[in-house]
Amino acid sequence: MKAGMRDGNPGLQRGVLPDTAAPAMNSALRWETVGKELASSSEQRPASDLELVFLPDPKVYDGSFADNAWLQELPDPITKLTWDNAAMLSPATAAKLGAGTGDMIHLRVQGRELRVPALVVPGHADDSISLHLGYGRRADAEPVARGVGFDGYMLWSGNRALLLSGVQAGLVRENGSPVRHTLATTQTHWAMEGRPLVLEATLEEYRQHPGFTKRESGRALSLYQPQRYTGNQWAMVIDQSLCTGCGGCVVACQAENNIPVVGKEGVLNSREMHWLRIDRYLTGSANDPEIVAQPMLCQHCEQAPCEYVCPVGATEHSPDGLNEMVYNRCVGTRFCSNNCPYKVRRFNWFNYNANVSETEAMAKNPDVTVRARGVMEKCTFCVQRIRAAEIEAGISGRPIRDGEFTTACAQACPADAIIFGSFTDPASTVAQRGAEPRAYAVLHELGTEPRVRYLARVTNPNPALAEPPHEL
Ligand code: SF4
Ligand code: SF4
Repeated sequence: MKAGMRDGNPGLQRGVLPDTAAPAMNSALRWETVGKELASSSEQRPASDLELVFLPDPKVYDGSFADNAWLQELPDPITKLTWDNAAMLSPATAAKLGAGTGDMIHLRVQGRELRVPALVVPGHADDSISLHLGYGRRADAEPVARGVGFDGYMLWSGNRALLLSGVQAGLVRENGSPVRHTLATTQTHWAMEGRPLVLEATLEEYRQHPGFTKRESGRALSLYQPQRYTGNQWAMVIDQSLCTGCGGCVVACQAENNIPVVGKEGVLNSREMHWLRIDRYLTGSANDPEIVAQPMLCQHCEQAPCEYVCPVGATEHSPDGLNEMVYNRCVGTRFCSNNCPYKVRRFNWFNYNANVSETEAMAKNPDVTVRARGVMEKCTFCVQRIRAAEIEAGISGRPIRDGEFTTACAQACPADAIIFGSFTDPASTVAQRGAEPRAYAVLHELGTEPRVRYLARVTNPNPALAEPPHEL
């Protein structure tokens, strides 16, 4: 028996020394008060001051979820930034500081200083800097989060105030040159360039022209025969009036389908593997733009441009309307990705699943193949769930019921913006919603006949406040 235990040493027996805990401190952040603080500060603040607003990060919150690689790689809903945080500021404020995206700036307030990269965000309030908390972690216990981003808490006074005024900011220079930090974003372009990708109308416009989404079909131009089906035709409808661009569906898809994380370097090389991404565009006036989000995934085209160019038939059409990948046939030419107008295919540049520990392997979905290096992959409409439902229905001797199962993205969406089902049953929710006047297909004019339908975004702005909409 060890001496401490024999002597009745409580520290050795219990593993802690009793009554030696540091006094408890309540530093819980009150995000809900930020709006009030902002309102009162704009009344009191001299116009020349910069203000700094601390915000919970949309992915890692206050840092509680920072060690989750899925969340670190999930693009920010607005800026599309991954694996980092940054000082977000308006184009006018950035111009005042002489800073561009990726330039390091120093923020000084109440005797504290933080160096952080600038990120110019159109539509951001002038003379204000927003900083997401939860980054710049240093603990060994967080191997994923350690060293990622910049620690906003270094500037925070700890008194629950989430807004600081009187902030000094300036460009960080070394040897006369601005210091740069590379930011990994998944979408750097904000405009639709005149293409009808996200269709939107005000409620008034929609009432006057409910069929405003209808455009000429490209089918007459197709050289290929239409597909013929006898059973279910799986399809999806995405309501853009409901989608907030949160990205919950992206992570759900990643978890369900064993999609690897590629890290910051991979994102910088445009090698992120997400089967579902949220495209973000700016609309409205240049001074006060609005952000619209469009979930983009394989459209399971009836006339799929990817299928026609695969030299080994590794991507094929299934009898129930899916565009399928046969991983064992794929030789990695990537012709399919080149020919896909929606750019939703992902290529395994490395064997991301090599050397996973036994514990990590147990986190994989056993119903989904783990892909190897050199293989193309993309959304399957969660085919493993479709086949499981078919087996279940077959055993019970009945057809699959509408709503009996759904895809991981639709299941996770907090706004119920994604509807999945079979177009074969005209009474199914997906068939009914897909027949709404708001329904349209993205890049329909190419004749791809997508199986994903989008419902145009309808807004109801206060006419006294609205500026005439136009694409940026
Ligand atoms: Fe193929 Fe792209 Fe159409 Fe999917 S969206 S079926 S990958 S062409
Ligand atoms: Fe979020 Fe739903 Fe939109 Fe996906 S579809 S980004 S889960 S609101």
